[in-house]
Amino acid sequence: MPKIRISVLVPRPFAEPFDYLSPQELAPGTIVRVPFGRQEIYGVVWKRNEKAPAQALKAILEVVDVPPICEASLQFIAWMSDYTLTLPGQILKMVLPVVEAFEDLSKKRALPETRPPHPPHLSAGQQEAADCLRESLDRAQYQTFLLEGVTGSGKTEVYFEAIAHLLERQGQALILLPEIALSAQWLQRFERRFGFRPALWHSAVTEAQRKATFLALLKGEVRVIVGARSALFLPFPDLRLVIVDEEHDGSYKQEEGVIYHGRDMAVARARFSEGTCVLASATPSLETLANVEAGKYTPLLLPARFGEAEMPQVQMVDMRPLKMAAQTWLSPALRGALEETLARGEQAMLFLNRRGYAPLTLCRECGDRQMCPHCSLSLVHHKVQEKLICHHCGHMSPIPPQCPACQEVGTYTAIGPGVERIYEEVQTFLPEARCVLLTSDHLTTPKKIAACVQQIQNHEVDILIGTQIMAKGHHFPLLTLVGVVDGDSTLSGSDFRAAEKSFQLLHQVAGRSGREERRGKVLLQTFLPDHPLMQALVAQDRENFFALEAEQRQLHGFPPYGRLVAVILSGKNEGEVEKTARLLARTFPLHGKAELLGPTPAPLSYLRGKYRWRLLVKTEKGMAPQPLLRHWLLTRPPPVSVRVQIDVDPYSFF
Ligand SMILES: [Zn+2]
Ligand SMILES: [Zn+2]
Repeated sequence: MPKIRISVLVPRPFAEPFDYLSPQELAPGTIVRVPFGRQEIYGVVWKRNEKAPAQALKAILEVVDVPPICEASLQFIAWMSDYTLTLPGQILKMVLPVVEAFEDLSKKRALPETRPPHPPHLSAGQQEAADCLRESLDRAQYQTFLLEGVTGSGKTEVYFEAIAHLLERQGQALILLPEIALSAQWLQRFERRFGFRPALWHSAVTEAQRKATFLALLKGEVRVIVGARSALFLPFPDLRLVIVDEEHDGSYKQEEGVIYHGRDMAVARARFSEGTCVLASATPSLETLANVEAGKYTPLLLPARFGEAEMPQVQMVDMRPLKMAAQTWLSPALRGALEETLARGEQAMLFLNRRGYAPLTLCRECGDRQMCPHCSLSLVHHKVQEKLICHHCGHMSPIPPQCPACQEVGTYTAIGPGVERIYEEVQTFLPEARCVLLTSDHLTTPKKIAACVQQIQNHEVDILIGTQIMAKGHHFPLLTLVGVVDGDSTLSGSDFRAAEKSFQLLHQVAGRSGREERRGKVLLQTFLPDHPLMQALVAQDRENFFALEAEQRQLHGFPPYGRLVAVILSGKNEGEVEKTARLLARTFPLHGKAELLGPTPAPLSYLRGKYRWRLLVKTEKGMAPQPLLRHWLLTRPPPVSVRVQIDVDPYSFF
């Protein structure tokens, strides 16, 4: 007869754990199978419940034969639930992502092959930084480092040393990479250095692999996991080292479901397991720099390597006085540089962060613009599919033969360039050049990406034309020219981080040019040559530019000098959404350190068939906004037809 009452957290959206009866004492973190409504599901023992067992309670069905989830993971779930204002069960769902794995427990797993490792020769600067990380791992106390150095300064080798040190001892390491599916070159380096393949965790990993990795991790058999942001929730038994590569990268932010910033959660996860956290970047975020300034993070600065990998020379092309021929976007300077580069037998890349053929499709006669029927967004013309596509909801429609507004036939015209159109332009003026398009529309699988990278490395391609997926990680020795088609494109919009993000992106793009012994060149086409961003890129002066940025943020109390929380209301009924937003604004509690901005229609005021309104809460840096939000939003729950999304520390504003 079961005697003990235990509380079990289940991976469902409830605020509290549920009570069950157990025949024996079970440690917190134990994974159990329990009846839940008419289902049987897996949950985690949350705590011993001191109340007397009641007859009406159901009994747990099974104790899963794996070690309990560690204390640090449980603390992390509770903390993150508090921080992001989401229910703990929703976070548990990310901690136990493949419970189906428990049915495979009896299966045997093949051990990974290993080869001898290849330790590299480190420069004095790298050695010094690696020593700091090794010492931190030996102290086994929480510490976060900012590992900063320009492209080619050898940040990866430094954190590889920390992994090597950990492998000689105990515990696990987690490495987060942005766009992990694109990281074939990184994985090759890892294998060469350590002689084995790390376990991978991202959306392109097969279900069978995920299950095997998950079980092996729970049993402590996996030492190193490389993954996307979702990997940081895995129940590592003894996580001692967390590395966030390209820590400034926007892809660490999860914008749907449980909304969080992977970098910040990684730091917290390391804190709960008394681990070492390394944030690596050539262009650290202002948030991270502010934490260094406040003494919370320890800076490790790598000097550029002498001789090799000199940073490319950045030149501006002032587009204002140029009389460009119709439907062309490449200046004479850029065209000339492309020809010269190809004549030398080298490769070039053209960067434009705009997918498709043209961002706008207008009727020549009446100006009617093709909009997504479900979103307040223009449809983007894609040549490959010969369709108009919405980049937010995926809606597709053919190009209308007749304008629905003025009834004229064949009047729709593509306005402005996307990468597909630049491809067309290059082919017209350099018909001999072998070009390849690099966008998420063309490179849809890791296999296609790997094949394309190989083609470029084999010099079967002369000109790469792509969006930001090419800005990351790849290393092509023959690539010596980067042309930025529209340096101004990411500056517009309502995002207070626009200048910072533009700098990080363009700096990263520039870094693709001229690695190893050939010095690279970057041509930056702009209509805003006097803008501090362009000046900073040419002078390669991140410090002054970011100081200027920081000043602006400080002045307005924006992050990292203040806190922001976005509250997005959405629903099918426009009037109801607006009414709810206004009501919420009226009930916002008066507080000396908190301010409400809005309500206003969200920048994307109509998305996937729903109207959206936004309220922004701004608090002073020292004040945690969560208690205020909890109190405020609970006083008057919105009608069920209006969805409330809370984004603590918002990164995108749409
Ligand atoms: Zn028309
Ligand atoms: Zn849409």
